[in-house]
Amino acid sequence: MGAAGSGKGTMSAKIVALEHIPHISTGDMFRAALKEETSLGLEAKKYMDKGLLVPDEITIAMVEERLRKDDCKAGYLLDGFPRTLAQAKSLEKMADEIGRPLQIVLNLEVSKDLLIKRITGRRLCPVCGAIYNTEFNPPKVEGICDNDGAALIQRKDDTVEQLEVRLKEHNDNTRPVIEYYRTHGLVHEINGEQATDDVFNQIVNALDTVRN
Ligand SMILES: [Zn+2]
Repeated sequence: MGAAGSGKGTMSAKIVALEHIPHISTGDMFRAALKEETSLGLEAKKYMDKGLLVPDEITIAMVEERLRKDDCKAGYLLDGFPRTLAQAKSLEKMADEIGRPLQIVLNLEVSKDLLIKRITGRRLCPVCGAIYNTEFNPPKVEGICDNDGAALIQRKDDTVEQLEVRLKEHNDNTRPVIEYYRTHGLVHEINGEQATDDVFNQIVNALDTVRN
């Protein structure tokens, strides 16, 4: 769990490489379902085209379909799900059904000031996909990719205004989910403001506490 800019994507990639488990990202699943034009993908598109959040039942159905695949039998990492209490309760049921109940919830905490710097400073290379930050990880030449010399771009929704919208959504919907998992004793707080390796070390230590 973590807000936009908390480092969820980076840490997810490192966790699945360490644990050899599938990375279940609802964002990636929506993009894939849209591309493949599955019935759930087309249903989700109706809402996304109007700028609305995809209803819980569609998101839940998509995750359920994914969790039932064989590669989840040895475990899985969820990223971007559950985002609402209704999703959390459905997940509890389906995770029990496949015999893989949640073992741990990692909550990446990053202050709003730092999130703003990370998001508004983010620049992408449209050619090779490299990600830079004007403050924390600048390219050698301003605005130019180190790898291929392409002009860097800023994503349209990487603005303070859009971040405020995402943070509000996170506070309204996802904070209660974290509280719910806290009462179940599943949450490990991770200080997401440290260097990448230090954040990951905290995660490895947390994972060690639930290793069989
Ligand atoms: Zn590049």
